[in-house]
Amino acid sequence: PWNDPEAKPLIECRSITKRFGDFTAIDNINLNIYEKEFFALLGPSGCGKTTLMRMLAGFETPTEGKITIDGQDVAQVPPNKRAVNMMFQSYALFPHLSVWENIAFGLKREHAPKDRIEERVAEMLRLTRLEKFARRKPHQISGGQRQRVALARSLAKAPKLLLLDEPLGALDKKLRQDTQFELMDIQERTGTTFVIVTHDQEEAMTVASRVAVMDAGEIMQIATPADIYEQPNSVYVADFIGDVNIIEGNASPMAGGPEGAINIAYAEGQDPVQAVATTPVAEGEKVFYAIRPEKITVSHQPDPDRANHAFGKIIDIAYLGNISTYRVQLASGKLISATMTNSRRLTRRAFTWEDEVWLSWTRTAGVVLTK
Ligand code: ATP
Repeated sequence: PWNDPEAKPLIECRSITKRFGDFTAIDNINLNIYEKEFFALLGPSGCGKTTLMRMLAGFETPTEGKITIDGQDVAQVPPNKRAVNMMFQSYALFPHLSVWENIAFGLKREHAPKDRIEERVAEMLRLTRLEKFARRKPHQISGGQRQRVALARSLAKAPKLLLLDEPLGALDKKLRQDTQFELMDIQERTGTTFVIVTHDQEEAMTVASRVAVMDAGEIMQIATPADIYEQPNSVYVADFIGDVNIIEGNASPMAGGPEGAINIAYAEGQDPVQAVATTPVAEGEKVFYAIRPEKITVSHQPDPDRANHAFGKIIDIAYLGNISTYRVQLASGKLISATMTNSRRLTRRAFTWEDEVWLSWTRTAGVVLTK
């Protein structure tokens, strides 16, 4: 929906700033979130993710700017009157109430008709696969099941928008991964717009249709996970998502090269990197070339099909089963990481420590960044 020019956003944030005293937690943010999106706010601790989410929920008021939810300016709308629910990291389940009663809580408080409550809770129990646990108390179920109760409870009143603050933070890694797929499935089946706050880039990339990468109260980039990974707009974003090599150097247009082709001189005695810039770069401009380790091949001879080559020595190997990452030191001292898939029939390592190897990559393998 975000790439449909006719689509109307469910949430619009216009020039939102939030100050606590003289500290600016959110600095002039603009953001549209569309219906049925699974949107992630991603960033390091303290960047303002929770503050932004609390403003959407109505627990905080922006110092400046305007938030519209479903076409309505919500400045004067208290949290319980917004078509929004928020699921907290702590889940905040009532320990003395059963799973069934926890899920029914919001509906009961609103004095919904009894059969409506019965029907809705049954539906939520089915959705979250908790039918068998309806009578248990929170302490009688597992952490993953508690997480699902909290989700069922948050969805019981069918909010248009569900805000999830680090919803999987309390789960261990394996369960977290399984639960990510469950969350995606539930989001799709209910069609509710989900906004998740996380500092875990893998989690954001797995679950979200779009990701906003934040830093110090600002949104650095909003894009699909693939675009965030392949087309980061800054060194900050490239570095925050996955592994990346950053080569800093001075650009010059490549004579006779394709459109946007540039050379990046980066170290004494090293051939310049041949790259393609998507935005114009001035002669001599300082640029950052960001290239993912898996875009670089390691071999005993330079790969003639690739424009870029560098020679160096393997100083570290991280063996991860399916892949190995080699850290290669160039004559200039620069370290480059390159990841290779390990062949299934490998009985001995293809490369070992101290091996002198060639790194090869194509002109379009990396991105040219100016900040
Ligand atoms: P985390 O992942 O650690 O929760 P976050 O990105 O969610 O971090 P926020 O909780 O939004 O960060 O906080 C952003 C900044 O605003 C922090 O520096 C925090 O100390 C500050 N802050 C948040 N709430 C208040 C408050 N009520 N009064 C003063 N400062 C606050």
